[in-house]
Amino acid sequence: MIPLTDVSLQVLSTNPALDRALDSDLDPEQASWQKIVNESIRDISALLQALGLPDQSHYSNFPILVPGPYLSRIERGNPNDPLLRQVISTVQEVRDVPGYIEQPLNESTFAKTSGLIQKYHGRVLLIVTGSCAINCRYCFRRHFPYQDFQPTSKDWQRIIDALMNDTSINEVILSGGDPLMMSDKRLKWIVQQVETIPHIDTIRIHSRLPVVIPQRITKTLIEILAESRLKAVLVTHINHPQELDETVSNAMLALQRADVLLLNQSVLLKDVNNDAEILSTLSKQLFKANILPYYLHALDPVAGAAHFDVSGKEAEEIMSVMRASLPGYLVPKLVKEVPGQPSKSPL
Ligand code: SF4
Repeated sequence: MIPLTDVSLQVLSTNPALDRALDSDLDPEQASWQKIVNESIRDISALLQALGLPDQSHYSNFPILVPGPYLSRIERGNPNDPLLRQVISTVQEVRDVPGYIEQPLNESTFAKTSGLIQKYHGRVLLIVTGSCAINCRYCFRRHFPYQDFQPTSKDWQRIIDALMNDTSINEVILSGGDPLMMSDKRLKWIVQQVETIPHIDTIRIHSRLPVVIPQRITKTLIEILAESRLKAVLVTHINHPQELDETVSNAMLALQRADVLLLNQSVLLKDVNNDAEILSTLSKQLFKANILPYYLHALDPVAGAAHFDVSGKEAEEIMSVMRASLPGYLVPKLVKEVPGQPSKSPL
């Protein structure tokens, strides 16, 4: 892809949404996000040392991965920091807990072809990468067999044919891994492929990158979304108000100016955000960053994450306090995914 230069910006100025986005305060060097990924912490000793905490053993077969911008929001010297709890492995991960299994959502059974999953009417998931910029200890895909799902070039033709032939589908959801781990060039290619299918009008991206490495929101990415005929929706995954800072807000403002609809989903996590005040503050801060709270997910029962579980009773008490203290549009829906159901199930 040709990089954006001053000249190309002038050419693109016929697009008002893009103009507004490009008027934002984005740093022109943000294409260096890949460098930030490469320099991430991958070792528990290095993580603890960076935070001034005593060393401990590494218990899990799910590796540590913490990028610098996220690390900078973790409080030094605090072993109970809510962001640290989301990224550090503990001995609890290797305990067998009844009911917690490797594939809690049984997603393999919903695959239409390699890389293409349909769980609900009208929308499909494309598994475009198995890579992430952070390894979240509660991840429901922490044991996911990405090697069996990632599409080859032949699979892409099958995927496009399957989408073309099914006029009931109007939305494509890019998933992973984290779909924004793809280069802008590859993302553009996928968006262009989807654009060729007349009955698809929406592209949705679920990503944790805008919060863990806000530098990922490059001008090129904004250009791709702003120029597409598809309505773009970005669902961020933010669990705690401490994850939001000015760099995240600036990235979100740029996306919002490009007419990207911004929604957030959180996972309800014990000792991270199972508190009505923390979640209410999160909703208010999301709103300030132009993001609407969308879902609060109950934990999926994935092996290795049972220590994050919050009971249904406690979850409902938290929601009750939030409903009483926030306007309705700032109260996320408390849901659970039950394999085979026609939609997310409200709790
Ligand atoms: S970024 Fe998403 S897919 Fe990746 S580990 Fe975290 S929750 Fe899982």
